[in-house]
Amino acid sequence: MMKKYITYLLFFGFPLFGCQSKVAENSAYQQNWMQLEQQNKAIAFDADVKLSDAEISLDQKLFQIRKDFLAGAEKQKVSLYNSSFNELKPLIESSKLFEIFQSMPKGGLLHTHSGGITDAKWVIAAARKYKECYIYDQADTKDFIFGQLAFFQDGKVPKGFVSLDQKLSSEPGFEKQLTELLLLKRESLCTYSDYWIEFEKRFTRISLLLPYRPFFKEYYKKGFEDLAANKVQHVEIRCVFDELYDFQHGKYPLKTSVTDLQEVVKEIQKKYPEFSLKLIYSSFKFLDPQAVGKQLETAFELKKEFPDVISGFDLVADEAAGNSIYSFREDWAKLNELSKKYGVKMPLFLHAGESVSVFNKNMIDIASLDNPRIGHGLNLIYFPKTMELIKKQNKLVEVSPISNQVLGYVSDLRNHPARVLLSNGIQCSINSDDPSVYGYEGLGYDFWVAYVYWELDVKALKKLVFNSINYSSLNESEKKQSLTYLNKQWDDFVKEMNGRLK
Ligand SMILES: [Zn+2]
Repeated sequence: MMKKYITYLLFFGFPLFGCQSKVAENSAYQQNWMQLEQQNKAIAFDADVKLSDAEISLDQKLFQIRKDFLAGAEKQKVSLYNSSFNELKPLIESSKLFEIFQSMPKGGLLHTHSGGITDAKWVIAAARKYKECYIYDQADTKDFIFGQLAFFQDGKVPKGFVSLDQKLSSEPGFEKQLTELLLLKRESLCTYSDYWIEFEKRFTRISLLLPYRPFFKEYYKKGFEDLAANKVQHVEIRCVFDELYDFQHGKYPLKTSVTDLQEVVKEIQKKYPEFSLKLIYSSFKFLDPQAVGKQLETAFELKKEFPDVISGFDLVADEAAGNSIYSFREDWAKLNELSKKYGVKMPLFLHAGESVSVFNKNMIDIASLDNPRIGHGLNLIYFPKTMELIKKQNKLVEVSPISNQVLGYVSDLRNHPARVLLSNGIQCSINSDDPSVYGYEGLGYDFWVAYVYWELDVKALKKLVFNSINYSSLNESEKKQSLTYLNKQWDDFVKEMNGRLK
């Protein structure tokens, strides 16, 4: 017994001393803990945001609503973390949080594409109204793919195409089939899909519709209207420029796309006066440096004529299949010279690091180029020195959580790399990339998944929303005006929600 007591003393000390040192240890330990907690928070991307009492109150309410939602999902045994966005979409839409995010002012949508902004069902309904609209209903060839839509003049319809309206009228089930052909869904997290091959087919199917001038205008009007109604006040589109045409005049010069879009924006502004638009001239990573060089010249010509509309340059397409950013270094080296020649700057808005592989080193280029915003940046977390530089350079990462899941880069959205970026103080904004291809409209869904899966608070939401204007391509005076509007919208939203949510 005595031996046991001595052993106890050896290990734990005399009861009195043990108790005293425990208090002292705890206090140093507690102090360190608190300090470290504060130090971590001070690094985070939203450290400079101070919430008002009203915002703190809303934060507490949203926290509780999320807690109740998660408890409800648990009770109903909903597999929130092992289900795809497509599987969870009805649940998201029926949630109280979704209603809140739909009405939240979202600032700007900084990352979306010309072929992915307008609702696919609307595209079918609008296209069939044109008697000159046809659909390819044969197996894929090297020229056309099944379900590809296009406009043709009477007597000049290529073999294999049939009237879209007639096809839809004679086959009642075909509209649903065509809608599916225009959407890319990740049915479940474990089904196999050749994501990028399937993804690009969606764009191919509507690519011949978009340059038809009458359709072009309608398409963007619908896309902008939906975004504005979803409280998105500013949009920047990665635009693949084609010469527009119609059958009366033939082809129009490239700049017609810009002037037509300016007209569409004016129409939208009748209902949403604050609505603004910038275009990022986009070419493709699969081209060679010479071809990209030509595209750069065209972008400069267009920007010289429309310096307030064209904001910069990007290269799109699958990074795993395309050329590296580094392979275009001769093009980037000419940027200064071209800037002098045309009298305008051409910042880059490159897609980079849309990958989970360390062999994709596109992020390294970003730190050396005039590239104020990065599309995706998913693998930035694997390049710590670059991450440090990007932070110092105050470059923003445009994050598109749902797109990243649909294209197979992230499965469980709790593990999205943006969480690492945000906690390390890298500025980000929330984007939808190609919502019409993923089967939704607006930005509410992406904010919903970010809020629920990344355990955000109102402070983080506010920073993300305001980042989308602060890091936009709006010029200083436009930005000031846009921020004034956003501030008012935000305050109204906080007030209204505090009144509505108990
Ligand atoms: Zn994109």
